Amino acid sequence: MVRLNPNYRKLVAGYLFSEIARRRQAFKDSHPEDKIWDLGIGNTTEPLTPAVSEGLEQGVNLLRSPDTYKGYGPERGMNELRESIAEQYFRRHGVDLTPSEIFVSDGAKPDTANIQSIFSPRTSIALQDPVYPVYLDTNVIAGRTGKFDEKTGKYERVIYMPCTEENGFIPEIPSEKAGLVYLCSPNNPTGTVMTRKSLERFVEYAHDHKSVIIFDSAYSDFITESGNLRSIYEIPDARSCAIEVSSFSKNAGFTGVRLGWTAVPNSLVVEGSNPGAVNNVWNRRQSTFFNGASNIAQTGGLLGVLSEKGQEECRELVAHYMGNAEIIRNGLDELGLRFYGGVNAPYIWMKTPDEMLSWDFFDKLLEEAHVVGTPGAGFGPSGEGFFRFSAFGHRNEVEQAMESIKSNLRL
Ligand SMILES: *Cc1c(COP(=O)(O)O)cnc(C)c1O
Repeated sequence: MVRLNPNYRKLVAGYLFSEIARRRQAFKDSHPEDKIWDLGIGNTTEPLTPAVSEGLEQGVNLLRSPDTYKGYGPERGMNELRESIAEQYFRRHGVDLTPSEIFVSDGAKPDTANIQSIFSPRTSIALQDPVYPVYLDTNVIAGRTGKFDEKTGKYERVIYMPCTEENGFIPEIPSEKAGLVYLCSPNNPTGTVMTRKSLERFVEYAHDHKSVIIFDSAYSDFITESGNLRSIYEIPDARSCAIEVSSFSKNAGFTGVRLGWTAVPNSLVVEGSNPGAVNNVWNRRQSTFFNGASNIAQTGGLLGVLSEKGQEECRELVAHYMGNAEIIRNGLDELGLRFYGGVNAPYIWMKTPDEMLSWDFFDKLLEEAHVVGTPGAGFGPSGEGFFRFSAFGHRNEVEQAMESIKSNLRL
């Protein structure tokens, strides 16, 4: 007899984004004439830039000719692309990684989801709270957590690292010993970036406790203030205790094209394993479960995104979204609302007025201003009382949304 994996039943019902879609549809049904603006999505909206489109077209052209056609490629990704990531991304930030330490993938979400599977089922996990839901849900499915407690909003056997106004949304190192420590900086949803000092403390913690840090740097290209780290390996000791996951999704508009990478340094060690073993096991996992990222996407990444012209265009693309972030910040400022982020990340994390619950504010914003955002409570218990605005959107839509908020939101 077959049963479903019972851990799926532990997942909290009413996934955040489906509940948002439900409430939005209900509003639409009762107000068919009204336009709804969306500042809720964490999804890119602007078209591919010219150099990036050309890179992708070259990927198709290579497949068109019998001389250059290729089928399956190396599971780790094209050699030239891994070399280019080592050169363009890491060496530019003073980090020396070899191409053999870089694995190309179909995105950062699958990699942050799958990476836990190479560690022992008994490994404990520590997470920022609020958090990008993937890190938590995949560990729930893998059976590393206990039940969800409705009263606290927490799973048993998970170490939550609160990110609050008091600590500037920078987590303290856990007081307990954690196996895997997930860090996302610049952060989704709080829009804040971890300081060098705080990352150094985590690296030291990982060394002391033989933990592994999973560092998600999907938004590193959105950092505008100098002095912030784009890669955790800018801290030299991180090579022996951290895995870094990143993506072409948000900086190059590849959310639908799909391309990312994971760095697993050869010097990374875990209990009972020699240097190189983690890299080998991740390779084994990927070559068993995955057949490589699309070669069209990889050529687009190599000849488009990572070309000099592509890099320049992608910086403009990011600047467009950060311009939206500024419009949102200015609008909230005019209304006297308190908020964080939006300077080194495309998210603005707003404190709800009068300590409103975040879902109540969601309904109020939709009813009064016809704007959709994301309730902070959906990202974890410390997200209650906060609300996420996303800077992904067309300029005129973001402007209209903010005008509507300024004119119609009753504060
Ligand atoms: C959008 C996002 C990603 C990117 O995922 P892809 O699978 O590469 O599209 C990764 N991490 C976080 C925190 C994100 O918000």
